[in-house]
Amino acid sequence: MNIPFRKITSTPTDFSVSLDGVTFKGEIAFKERNQAILQAHLSGEISLTCDRCAEDFATMLDEKIALLIANGIYEGFNDTLDVVEINEMIDFDELLRSEVEMFKSDYHSCNDCKNQERN
Ligand SMILES: [Zn+2]
Repeated sequence: MNIPFRKITSTPTDFSVSLDGVTFKGEIAFKERNQAILQAHLSGEISLTCDRCAEDFATMLDEKIALLIANGIYEGFNDTLDVVEINEMIDFDELLRSEVEMFKSDYHSCNDCKNQERN
């Protein structure tokens, strides 16, 4: 699903994309100049690899995502939102893929290891 940046207005536009059982659903609204704010929810089941024992395990995603979409180079500084630079076209499937990758790159441990960490 692609939406050209120039089609984004101050009235929020809904979007919903899914990939491999993960759904990325929310809305995007024009903010100012070359910037738009995206607010979304990432949900569904994904497979992770435990960082302690290297076993694969499944977990349910339930993540709130807020992004600042910049059409072109973003020259400001934003400490509350992650900034994603795009080139005229907003590719929601690509955003979904990168959010899932970002989540996977965090530290994750399976339930067995979590229990051991507690002891
Ligand atoms: Zn583990």
